[in-house]
Amino acid sequence: MTKTIAINAGSSSLKWQLFEMPEEEVIAQGIVERIGLKDSIFTIKYDSGKKYNKVLDIPDHESAVNDLLEQLLRLNIIASYDEITGAGHRIVAGGEYFKESALVDEEALRKVEELGDFAPLHNPAEATVIRVFQKVLPKTTNVVVFDTSFHATMPKKNYLYSIPFEYYEKYRARKYGAHGTSHRYVSERAADMLGKPLAELKLITCHLGNGASITAVQGGKSVDTSMGFTPLAGVTMGTRSGDIDASLLPYLMKKLNLTDIKEMVDILNKKSGLLGISGISSDMRDLLDVESTNEMAATAIEIFVNRIQKYIAGYVAVMNGCDAIVFTAGIGENSVPIREKIIEGITWFGCKIDSEKNNVHGQERIISTDDSTMKVLLIPTNEELMIARDVERLK
Ligand code: AMP
Repeated sequence: MTKTIAINAGSSSLKWQLFEMPEEEVIAQGIVERIGLKDSIFTIKYDSGKKYNKVLDIPDHESAVNDLLEQLLRLNIIASYDEITGAGHRIVAGGEYFKESALVDEEALRKVEELGDFAPLHNPAEATVIRVFQKVLPKTTNVVVFDTSFHATMPKKNYLYSIPFEYYEKYRARKYGAHGTSHRYVSERAADMLGKPLAELKLITCHLGNGASITAVQGGKSVDTSMGFTPLAGVTMGTRSGDIDASLLPYLMKKLNLTDIKEMVDILNKKSGLLGISGISSDMRDLLDVESTNEMAATAIEIFVNRIQKYIAGYVAVMNGCDAIVFTAGIGENSVPIREKIIEGITWFGCKIDSEKNNVHGQERIISTDDSTMKVLLIPTNEELMIARDVERLK
């Protein structure tokens, strides 16, 4: 029996799924939260329905990985560590080094650490977890899977900013995008659902979760995406502003008496978006609940929908056409009204939503009418499976 673990490590959390491969069956999954804080929370779901929960102090990522592996043994999810032959690690920033997923060696690991400048909260923690895996499971093959690498196919005209070119040459200042594993997964599924080769399709994939990004996928390749140098750019998100005029920053800093640009960027990352506009919540469900009675909740929803519509329209132009729009992630998979609002405002492109087919949560299906020339698809994303597949392919 060979098992592959897909790891998604954040600065204070570690999410994981354990797959039986090549069957692609999830045999256990879980999360360790509040690593490094008091009362870390340890959760494992296994054996189709059993749950293990524990609150304990987990001081760092090394203890988190050790505790996790011990529990897998104790709960008989694995019989020995040797069963875990592969570990896939989600990495936020791959810069220009990593155009695809890669086997971990010392050089790859050093590059992941070096790219900490691009994702200071993520890359260093992710590299730490890989080093712990190398120590605790020395026989396991480690693979790195990057959020950015699906977008490595973007042409220069789409990834360069209109700033002095030497900043790109000297400092690699450019658009990298994110959510690549999700956009890649739903594109492949979309081709299957439409019964056409991916190479012949023009798709616009909308990953709408707490973080949100839109990607133009032509012939299976990302040609443009809404996130930028970091995941702050693009459409309005839960707490992130998305695109704004950079000149607003010095103006607001003066008004707010801020001297450190980091504080301003922090506001754009953590206090803006749906939360900033509504003053109520970053969670779309909370806003939809009060949409009819609270004007600012309704405005936040309108802005969210409007920015997505503009990106979709822009990407129809980027690809000179579009066969299908795909909705995925928390909001995209679950919100019937948001999908409807987005599509209802862009019917000029030939897409029409079927309200009965659209009345569904998290289920893979075509939700446009039969006569819709541009199809609309709902596809639950599965980044962990994509990571496990990459491990299988590379190990
Ligand atoms: P994610 O980051 O993919 O986990 O997505 C989180 C977002 O999905 C939050 O804004 C949630 O409010 C949203 N979400 C989850 N379920 C629903 C739902 N039934 N209706 C609207 N939004 C939802």
